[in-house]
Amino acid sequence: MALPEKITVGVFGAAGRMGATVCAAVAGDQDLELVAAVDPGAVGESLRKVTGVDSDIEIAGKAEHLDVKPQVMIDFTHLEAARANLAWCAEQGVHAVGGTTGFLDADFQRFRETFTTSNCLIAPNFAIGAILMMRFAELAAPWFETAEVIEFHHDAKVDAPSGTAIRTVERMAAASSDWTADPTTTNTIDGARGAEGPAGIRIHAVRMHGMVAHQEVLLGTTGQTLSIRHDSYDRSSFMPGVLLAAKNVASHAGLTIGLDALVDL
Ligand code: NAP
Repeated sequence: MALPEKITVGVFGAAGRMGATVCAAVAGDQDLELVAAVDPGAVGESLRKVTGVDSDIEIAGKAEHLDVKPQVMIDFTHLEAARANLAWCAEQGVHAVGGTTGFLDADFQRFRETFTTSNCLIAPNFAIGAILMMRFAELAAPWFETAEVIEFHHDAKVDAPSGTAIRTVERMAAASSDWTADPTTTNTIDGARGAEGPAGIRIHAVRMHGMVAHQEVLLGTTGQTLSIRHDSYDRSSFMPGVLLAAKNVASHAGLTIGLDALVDL
């Protein structure tokens, strides 16, 4: 009996922290075949040398220079690069899995309009624990009148607040409109109360050497508080979700935001 064909996958940002981890995860998955790697910072280098992945692939500087067109491209780069990379995927009819954070509503609208012949799945967080954290925060929201989110990341993260924090607060705001107004009348130092997210829920961003990706959702009501915390200690925490997305993006038409659509919560 013939073996089922593997899904061919390419990685944008292959030399980056997440991209290199994704290359290793894809190469080690029996249903996926790593066929392409793109990273302008490592153009012409061997993927093996840059990432340690057992592969003869030479890293391309642009998707336009790839010899093969993968069925799925995975993007973990920077915001401007990701916008261009996803536009290329839409134009070329290549399915896209997007992990880069920082997209605005206008970006999502454009992806909805442009992914017509292939699909796009974007998740601000591919860790299952983070998906559950967002769901638990959404469930808790109607039972509390005050909430704040503190997100903690490694000290090389360039965008703030994190996409996970924004998505968490959007979902809490959609689950309840009954939030108490901020009582602060004087900020002795600007920004002391963090950034104001949807429904006035405050988000605080910490950047710290030694951390990876962590978030705490604090909710309070009379006489009690609830803390919901998730910690990613290692980039491997994101890989099961990324691989799940790569295997399933073809069957989810158009734009899908969040991994929730692929996991039955
Ligand atoms: P990183 O180490 O800076 O890696 C990004 C890589 O992309 C770099 O090697 C960069 O090269 C490369 N790059 C830049 N422009 C490119 C282009 N046009 N095409 C292809 N590659 C390009 O960053 P990271 O820590 O891996 O994080 C990447 C993104 O993933 C961030 O937005 C982060 O917030 C996000 N993230 C998401 C999740 C999730 O679960 N969704 C989890 C972790 C991180 P140069 O260095 O030469 O510019």
